[in-house]
Amino acid sequence: MTKKRDDFTKRTKDKLKDRVNGLCSSPNCRTLTTGPHTDKAERTNNGNAAHITAASEKGPRFNPNLTSEQRKHISNGIWLCVSCSNIIDADANRFSVKLLHKWKEEAEKYAQDVLDGKVKHIPAMVLNDIYTKDKNGQNFYSRNNLTDTKGKVAKYIYDHEVDFFLTKNTVIAEILNILPETLQRVLKYFNRDGLINMEKRIINKVALKSLFKELDDCIKLIG
Ligand SMILES: [Zn+2]
Repeated sequence: MTKKRDDFTKRTKDKLKDRVNGLCSSPNCRTLTTGPHTDKAERTNNGNAAHITAASEKGPRFNPNLTSEQRKHISNGIWLCVSCSNIIDADANRFSVKLLHKWKEEAEKYAQDVLDGKVKHIPAMVLNDIYTKDKNGQNFYSRNNLTDTKGKVAKYIYDHEVDFFLTKNTVIAEILNILPETLQRVLKYFNRDGLINMEKRIINKVALKSLFKELDDCIKLIG
């Protein structure tokens, strides 16, 4: 038995990374995987071109029916941060070939939408910054206790992505126990900031989730 590995070429790895803007492809992560280095001629990489079906026989999700070429083909790879790539290999039953293909497709769709300007990628750090300004009263987010309301609305949209655009605002306002005008105002800001796109009926799940998570954390901190 040979210990052969069908590794990706450097070019394939780069393409996998670039096809998702260097973000981790796990829908619960989407962290940035590249950055600078203290050596000004170098860079830091915290990502991995992971094999969907393993590169070698004993690896996770190995498919003996693939040829060596198919195994190292770009279609068998997914770009993940180091942590997520360890997790998917530690429990291959949970992270099936089908699921990883779905992640890959969604991550590339997300990168495409960001590239096309349909959604705005809002890193958690930026949301933090918005909240800081908020506390100094320099920003919409600080006024009228809207931080709490925004978190509520973001969570509602996140949880109801399928029927959100089909449900009347008055109904949603009632469910959330807020005034319809308040809901309108929040949606207007979400639309402006790329968390939702009212016209194209698209929601930015990653940004919405970071919003209610960040706000939750902030509220806990303030007490
Ligand atoms: Zn990740």
